[in-house]
Amino acid sequence: MSPTEFTNRYVPTLEPLERLRSEFLNEVIAHFEADRQHALRVLVTAGSATALILLVLGYVLVFAQRSVFLPLLDARDAVIALAEGRSRPSFTLPASGREMRRLFDALDILRRKLRERASLTEQLEHQARTDSLTGLLNRRALERIAAQPADPAGPSTTSLILMDVDRFKQINDRHGHPAGDQVLRAVADLMRDMVDPDHALARFGGEEFAVLVPGASADEAASLAQALCAAICAEPIRLADGTRLPVTASFGVATGLSGAPHWPRLFAAADAAMYRAKAEGRNCVRRADAPAEAVDH
Ligand code: GH3
Ligand code: MG
Ligand code: MG
Repeated sequence: MSPTEFTNRYVPTLEPLERLRSEFLNEVIAHFEADRQHALRVLVTAGSATALILLVLGYVLVFAQRSVFLPLLDARDAVIALAEGRSRPSFTLPASGREMRRLFDALDILRRKLRERASLTEQLEHQARTDSLTGLLNRRALERIAAQPADPAGPSTTSLILMDVDRFKQINDRHGHPAGDQVLRAVADLMRDMVDPDHALARFGGEEFAVLVPGASADEAASLAQALCAAICAEPIRLADGTRLPVTASFGVATGLSGAPHWPRLFAAADAAMYRAKAEGRNCVRRADAPAEAVDH
């Protein structure tokens, strides 16, 4: 058999094989094409889902920052300001978020309560240093002022005037305790009018009063005491029921170094001078450690 004959005889028999091969290859290509399409769809879906998740996360983050983190920082600043007693911690109520609004409402209540407490504390401090009958300083407040360390730039001496209303018990006995109270208030008003507001004027207890005059010389303090003594006895005190009561008082004046260590000696000297005024006839001024200077009316 010649090669041509051989070819002519066998090649046609190979055609189905060739077709089979082509069909197999087409089948494989189609399969891979379907796989590629599927993978592409999966890729697009996953990409979209990821973008959506990132978008949601971004929104949640911005929302959380606006509605939670920034208000919380504000709340923190407000709590610190309230704790430090700064008068007006400012914060803006968040526009949304019920929980946050409740937190800020609570801060607002805390701010109001602290303000009330500060005002009550101020009232209590005022009451603690004030005599309730006359509105003058009380003894504790005057002694606290007297005990303050001397200001190196200010006066190093101070004068103390002690005053005691004469025969005050008789006023109570004859006219009653309320009348005595009226006399004490009237005497306090009169002294308040005459004493410089920068000086410390106190009701020392009972019917005793004191004036602390920082920087005043003995002469200046004595002349203030004499002016007070003269003013008290100048006019009878008029009670609410129209009764007019003549009132006099005795004064002791001492001058010494200012500050806590010197206070007991200054007080004792003024007290002794005041008792001398009582012993020497009342309605007069006596100076400590100085020639007696009677001012009788
Ligand atoms: P002296 O001239 O020696 O100071 O005599 P006095 O009567 O003023 O002194 P005494 O210490 O004997 O009496 C003081 C009186 O002051 C006795 C007390 O009942 C009265 N007193 C004390 N505190 C008050 C008060 O707040 N109101 C009234 N109305 N009387 C008071
Ligand atoms: Mg007395
Ligand atoms: Mg008296």
